[in-house]
Amino acid sequence: MTSIPDAKAPAAEVVLEAISLTKHFPVRRKLRDLFSHRKDAVHAVDDVNLTLRRGQVVALVGESGSGKSTIARLLAQLYPRTSGDIRLHGETTKVKGGAAFRRYCSQVQMIFQDPFASLNPTHTIRYHLTRSLKIHGNAGKTAEDLDRALIELLERVQLTPPERYLDKFPHELSGGQRQRVAIARALGARPEALLADEPVSMLDVSIRLGVLNLLRDLRDRLNLAILYITHDIASARYFADQTMVMYAGRMVEGGDSETVTQSPAHPYTRLLIDSAPDPDRLAGTSDAEGEDAGNGEPPSLIHPPAGCRFHPRCPFAMERCRTELPVPLEIGDAPGHWAACWLYDQNEKAEVAQ
Ligand code: SF4
Repeated sequence: MTSIPDAKAPAAEVVLEAISLTKHFPVRRKLRDLFSHRKDAVHAVDDVNLTLRRGQVVALVGESGSGKSTIARLLAQLYPRTSGDIRLHGETTKVKGGAAFRRYCSQVQMIFQDPFASLNPTHTIRYHLTRSLKIHGNAGKTAEDLDRALIELLERVQLTPPERYLDKFPHELSGGQRQRVAIARALGARPEALLADEPVSMLDVSIRLGVLNLLRDLRDRLNLAILYITHDIASARYFADQTMVMYAGRMVEGGDSETVTQSPAHPYTRLLIDSAPDPDRLAGTSDAEGEDAGNGEPPSLIHPPAGCRFHPRCPFAMERCRTELPVPLEIGDAPGHWAACWLYDQNEKAEVAQ
């Protein structure tokens, strides 16, 4: 049996979880530090919690360097973690290669930003897909089984008629077609979770929607759990069920995508939304507040600011923001909407009201 069946597993079943996931990259010591005991590290990801469920897309949004791609690579077990846990179906997993890594990859697959770099230019599409099917034991027993599986993979990603694409090389395809081949290769493993790291950011604007629609179709038909990493918060609203916002290695807000994008609570999320292209604002008709929010650069992750990492850029920063790390606080406007910001602490609200 080689075909990829439509999913039968229950929707919303938890597939993959990150619990207090932390990754620090040691910084190479300079000559002048050799005699000191200083050991610097880049705090790329700190204490991140994330849950991927069947049949749902979770968007992870933030600017470059916020730690989004590091989370994808940690979840794909491409980097060892500094601390925290990754659970696949509730079981702690830590794999370093070999058969255990292959078993893990058959359930969790990654799609990279650049489809050209992720495909070998010297091999045909048939080679890439056959390799994936064989590595994960989905090629069947006969040549006919394999042919049928190849055709199904290409049909799944809407590259039809499949015969037209099988013997082409990556350079003979458009960027959108290459990304569809990369998705087909990931599906060759019959995964339960897809980690899509900026899957459309290198594609022409005109074909991005088609690839996002394809991923949404796969979410529904194969009941996949999808992590969608992007710096474009507008696409998160369109495509994702849940949206999580990251800043300087920490999660700062989360909730259902409609609420997070329409009623953002954290000042950083508001900044992201305000800086996304908006035809009303360009035409000068927006009634958005003219706050000069968020001027400045993201902080150094080698010596991140104490307290709230956003405080050097935040127009609402209070004294405690400089020293106390904000904890996730419920906003109360929609179930599950939270922000790590002291503005939502009941004590602060009471003081403001006085
Ligand atoms: Fe701004 Fe303070 Fe909230 Fe951080 S905790 S976002 S500095 S108000």
